[in-house]
Amino acid sequence: MPGGSPKRPEPTSDGWSPRTEASVWLGLGLLGVGVVWFTVRAVEIDRSLDAASRQLASAGPPDAAPPPAPAPDAGAEQHITLSWTVGAPGEPAEPLASVRRAAEELLARRLPHGLRRGAVIRAVVEAARAPKEPRVLALAVRAAGQPEARFYRFDGNATGRLVDEEGRELVPNPWQAPLATLRRTSPFNPKRMHPVLHRVRPHEGTDYGAPSGTPVYAALEGSVSWVGPHGGHGNWVAIQHENGVETGYAHLSRFAAGLKRGDHVATHQLVGYVGSTGRSTGPHLHFSASRNGVYFDAETLLAMRLRELPADQRDAFRAEKGELDRELDDIGDPLPAASRPGGGDEPASPANDSVSQPRAAASGARRQRR
Ligand SMILES: [Zn+2]
Repeated sequence: MPGGSPKRPEPTSDGWSPRTEASVWLGLGLLGVGVVWFTVRAVEIDRSLDAASRQLASAGPPDAAPPPAPAPDAGAEQHITLSWTVGAPGEPAEPLASVRRAAEELLARRLPHGLRRGAVIRAVVEAARAPKEPRVLALAVRAAGQPEARFYRFDGNATGRLVDEEGRELVPNPWQAPLATLRRTSPFNPKRMHPVLHRVRPHEGTDYGAPSGTPVYAALEGSVSWVGPHGGHGNWVAIQHENGVETGYAHLSRFAAGLKRGDHVATHQLVGYVGSTGRSTGPHLHFSASRNGVYFDAETLLAMRLRELPADQRDAFRAEKGELDRELDDIGDPLPAASRPGGGDEPASPANDSVSQPRAAASGARRQRR
């Protein structure tokens, strides 16, 4: 055979199969990603060192004696502690006033009935210099007649939200109450014995007592799927939500002006007013929820949702919590809330009564932590 030299091998046959080549490119790609990640981390670390050194140089609370200059250990976190009574006179000076507002907002969202006057709050705060907001690291709240509740920031929690003493975080709930005040008069009950008919007749919603004319709001944004009379529901509004749930608002005295089928409504948009139309014995809202035509307990939509920390984070959380607890325990009692003229005050917490020598409304302390 003329020129019978074997066919020149393909370039990939010099020990590199196409698969090997792909692996090498993948490896190089990952290496590239790694370099970028490392660079980003280095910049972050650099920034946090910078922030830490600025914190060390930052001033303490204005009403506290100037602290001794801490050692320039860039890895140290500097903490400020403060305590106050909700409704007590004397707003602490900035930046503590903004910490106090941030803490009260955090707590109000977390407590079922919000923050009441007279509640005693103690906080551990990470010092920071403006414009960086001081971060709240731990909060303890003692409300009248309630056991003390504590909340902690834990770096192992990816969401950055505060967790409670069991390491659970409150998951933000997009659903909102259909009435400003929920006074449940009858729960969802698939086996309810009907008071008049004396036979099992499921109660497919939750009844909330309210005066006729009380505004009723959409529990979540969605598309209006019904406006008008609807049998026993009386004047009924139904809203189809994107997640497949339909909510219903029954026995209304009237509808929000201009509301019609197909309208898009926002969360908490007015849809109508409480009444007693349809099969109803008095003014109330019958609030229901269904998925694919099957009713379920609408109250579950409004319930607080807690998410547990992953099991592998719990030891680290307990250690962090122990340190923050010691700092919270060391904070003194604040001034009690001033009594309001004309009464209407909530009973002061017993701890407040025992404060004979009230200390400053906002006490400042600084400490070093590893
Ligand atoms: Zn009902």
